[in-house]
Amino acid sequence: MSASTPVPEIELLRDLISRRSVTPDDAGCQQILIERLSALGFECETLVFGAVTNLWARRGKASPVLCFAGHTDVVPPGNEADWSSAPFTPTLKDGYLYGRGSADMKSGLAAMIVAIEQFLAANPDPVGSLALLITSDEEGRARDGTLKVVETLAARDEHIDWCVLGEPSSQESLGDIVRIGRRGSLSGMLTVNGIQGHVAYPQTTDNPIRRFAPVLAELHEVVWDEGNEYFPPTSFQVVDVQSGTGAPNVTPAQLNARFNLRYSTQWTDETLKKRVHQIFDAHDIDYELQWHLSGEPFLTQPGKLIDAVSQAVTELSGNAPELSTGGGTSDGRFISPAGAEVVELGPVNASIHKIDEHVRVDDVIKLTAMYRRIMELLLLDAD
Ligand SMILES: [Zn+2]
Repeated sequence: MSASTPVPEIELLRDLISRRSVTPDDAGCQQILIERLSALGFECETLVFGAVTNLWARRGKASPVLCFAGHTDVVPPGNEADWSSAPFTPTLKDGYLYGRGSADMKSGLAAMIVAIEQFLAANPDPVGSLALLITSDEEGRARDGTLKVVETLAARDEHIDWCVLGEPSSQESLGDIVRIGRRGSLSGMLTVNGIQGHVAYPQTTDNPIRRFAPVLAELHEVVWDEGNEYFPPTSFQVVDVQSGTGAPNVTPAQLNARFNLRYSTQWTDETLKKRVHQIFDAHDIDYELQWHLSGEPFLTQPGKLIDAVSQAVTELSGNAPELSTGGGTSDGRFISPAGAEVVELGPVNASIHKIDEHVRVDDVIKLTAMYRRIMELLLLDAD
């Protein structure tokens, strides 16, 4: 295909990149999707929570429900002068399309829409239902986005069976990695209390740094678990420690630290917190600990969705994907707890959130074919 032949998924991707949808602003992206989906017989519902615009679109009433999910918001471009081409002007160069959101994840959205158009043109009456769950609050606080839409669906007993998230899951080449779950992320904000004093008279002081040092060492040394077939071992990392008065002859009264645990489905946030407190409590230390749970872990068990995605990727890329749970959190953490099987399949993620974010044009075309094949395998073969 010559470079000048218009390719519908690339045209749509250009249109989406042109919209400056810096999180949580949707900047009209969802309206573009609504126009395309309405023409295909989807019922489109715009769900606004706070400053966030979300879209739930569904075609058909029957089960099973295959849902494509993703986000229209993008991270800020950073210093625009550092970009080789303007971040919100889609620019084609050497087979790659440049622009903020090109990989994360407007190419996923464009591929979904065009794949659905092609699939329904060939199969106007598939089994079950097709749906899309699109938010503009994935890159930000993620409180008024997918989480709220999932709650809305649950309240009216609407159920997603299979969900394909178009997040950029691939590492080196399209489809080399498919995410079938994510680790949980739990952060601790620690305060250790002591007694400030003169460094020359340690018997009159209680140094919180000395109190914390052995606990910190133990937290890093603990083998939380060995990992399992799908999860790497749970890991503890300290990210910040603050103490000291600035004077060389004073021991401080307080120490503040932050740490994070990335954990597998062998833990819940409750069991993990309990274990951390046990370690602290085994030491002589006066501390307070506040917790923030960013995401529970989830894992999709082998089944029809993983089979279909693996087969589609293998047929179209020539290689079976690695099934992985690596990377940060994603909105899959909100969709999975309601009982849906969730898989993430999207373009190569090497440039996401960076200056000169880009996506390979051929990958967007191939991703469209993969999504279409997944629909064929799940919504035509069901008996
Ligand atoms: Zn993303």
